[in-house]
Amino acid sequence: MPGTLVFDDLKARVHDGSVDTILACFVDMQGRLMGKRFHGVNFVETSFEETHCCNYLLATDLEMATPDGYASTSWETGYGDYVMKPDLTTIRLVPWLDGTAMVLCDILDHHHHHPVSHSPRAMLQKQIARLDAMGFEAKMATELEFFLFEKSFDEIRKDGFRDLQPISGYNEDYHIFQTTKEEDVMRPIRNHLYAAGLPIENSKGEAEAGQEELNIRYSPALDCADHHSIAKHAIKEIAWQHGRAATFLPKWNKDRVGSSSHIHQSLWHDGEAAFFDPSGQHGMSKLMSHYMAGLIKYAPDYTYFLAPYVNSYKRFSKGTFAPTKTVWSVDNRTAGFRLCGEGTEGVRVECRIGGSDLNPYLAQAVMLAAGMKGIEDQLELAPATAGDVYQDEVAASIPQTLRAATELLRNSQFLREALGGDVVNHYARAAEWEQEEFDGAVTDWEIARGFERA
Ligand code: ADP
Repeated sequence: MPGTLVFDDLKARVHDGSVDTILACFVDMQGRLMGKRFHGVNFVETSFEETHCCNYLLATDLEMATPDGYASTSWETGYGDYVMKPDLTTIRLVPWLDGTAMVLCDILDHHHHHPVSHSPRAMLQKQIARLDAMGFEAKMATELEFFLFEKSFDEIRKDGFRDLQPISGYNEDYHIFQTTKEEDVMRPIRNHLYAAGLPIENSKGEAEAGQEELNIRYSPALDCADHHSIAKHAIKEIAWQHGRAATFLPKWNKDRVGSSSHIHQSLWHDGEAAFFDPSGQHGMSKLMSHYMAGLIKYAPDYTYFLAPYVNSYKRFSKGTFAPTKTVWSVDNRTAGFRLCGEGTEGVRVECRIGGSDLNPYLAQAVMLAAGMKGIEDQLELAPATAGDVYQDEVAASIPQTLRAATELLRNSQFLREALGGDVVNHYARAAEWEQEEFDGAVTDWEIARGFERA
């Protein structure tokens, strides 16, 4: 991967003292970096081979609970270990922390050392291998939208997450002046990530007060997902370093626009853009039309992976650029899928459904699987839609609640074949648990509505 360090270079830096700490990280179901902080010497002499973690880490929720109902791990089986196998092609400096480097790990079974099938990185690697066997490589870009707040995470938590004040007082879409005021946070985000080897393109103000977007140049799918996870982590850490908070919650206020993570996708063959055909409509090859038809047909099945929490579904409201219709369009932001780069080698499809809380490995894995299914079955692409798709009563929709998405996930024959039945059951349980937890919660809304008047 460009921008990374080779192992010998890391060793040299540890021995000359410029690196003393190595973060061995894996990506959990929620897309978070989890792991351990190694002393540099221990890592380069021993632990680079492998280290271990408890297997509940791929069967937990945001709160680190230990829900029942998972086949892979439970109290009955004693919560054993997984192997964390450092992927030495992913070593990079962490320039926003002193003397620190990072490596991403694959999660392997403790006994036979095969990849754990529901590990997000393994799920994406599996689809990439299937695509490779078809003769193609996927390149992707995920856009990261988030909100910056005036106060720090700790202050906000101590205040009970009330009276949240975004860093800006007004909609800052494309604003230069307002974003200048935020450069104490955004400039180190861009520069530190760039120095860590991420091909940062730009950041910009987004269409709400305090909302930001970070764009990273498209890369092979696994690199793209790695970049996304590292960038999301860095944004939170760097915001924290500056006494601010950054949230990727898709909808933190019902009256404010939500945050998305649009995913741009293209296939390549021998370095050539396989989605491009100068004689095709919009410069789109037959291959691309089948891929898009697969993406569209199976969008309801895989929506859970684009919107994994109860809150994710609160983002899907009309007129907010958060599309829910499974149609495509050319350069039109109200459709679930948008053809971008019309008539050029850069022709690609952008999925606009996913929220800022998606796990990029899972989202990319299921979309690759859907696109491949479209290619295998030579699915025909329906004509593009035009105009405001929100008003289109005929166009099909993605599920509108986590409950509905979970049902579609659990019953998806397509996902069972592509990911494996055990993996579908695992994530369907995660989705159910999320809903059960929410159903048991007493919310601020209920109290304000009923405390006096009920
Ligand atoms: P916008 O004007 O919507 O921001 P950009 O041209 O900046 O569009 O591209 C958006 C994202 O698409 C960027 O992250 C870019 O790297 C990515 N991208 C460009 N070409 C391709 C491609 N062929 N395949 C996948 N992603 C691409």
